[in-house]
Amino acid sequence: MRILVAEDEQNMNYVLKRRLTNDGYTVDSCFTGTEAMDYLNCTAYDAVVLDIMLPGKDGFEVLKELRESGQDVPVLLLSAKSEAKDIVKGLDAGADDYLTKPFDFSELSARLRLILRKKVEHRGNIYSCGGLQIDTAIRQVTRDGKIIRLSPREYSILLFLLRNKDIVVTREQIVDNIYNIDQDISSNVIDAYIRLLRKKVDRDFDEKLIYTIRGMGYVLKSEES
Ligand code: CA
Repeated sequence: MRILVAEDEQNMNYVLKRRLTNDGYTVDSCFTGTEAMDYLNCTAYDAVVLDIMLPGKDGFEVLKELRESGQDVPVLLLSAKSEAKDIVKGLDAGADDYLTKPFDFSELSARLRLILRKKVEHRGNIYSCGGLQIDTAIRQVTRDGKIIRLSPREYSILLFLLRNKDIVVTREQIVDNIYNIDQDISSNVIDAYIRLLRKKVDRDFDEKLIYTIRGMGYVLKSEES
């Protein structure tokens, strides 16, 4: 899942990027509201962590522009101010949640999971298909109750397939979702990861869940669903 962080305080920006990356997200970060709009206009993000007091355009302006252009990407606003009027203004402008600085990273992490769940109208942290299950709170993958160990990259790709189950995703969509803007990845790399995932997820089971759709991409699906 790909997240944009817009925060002008260098330290906070750095810490957010590092900790969210450790949480398994693909993270792009920027320092001004103007940059944030540029990123949002050229990439599909799963969520945005948006500071209110930003140079260029402030968080409210970015949010307003975003919603007016019809983008419904979930937004978590960050603010140093705790006044009720700002909270109301942010939520009225279309923010999904609001966090006042200083905050615990664990709280930000939990709130982010919450708005990501809302986006896919999904309750809980668990995604499943057939006997395959991913619990995103503890980053655990199981099939028929048996734990499957995956590298961070394999995990991200499998989660992307699972969140889009029954929908064919292209290699480009996988690349866009998994890698940040600084990384130049050929789609062959995705094929290599899919081979590894098949070995770990499908090989020991009668029912295969990962399908190749020739000329298009991949789909994860199950007869049982
Ligand atoms: Ca700021």
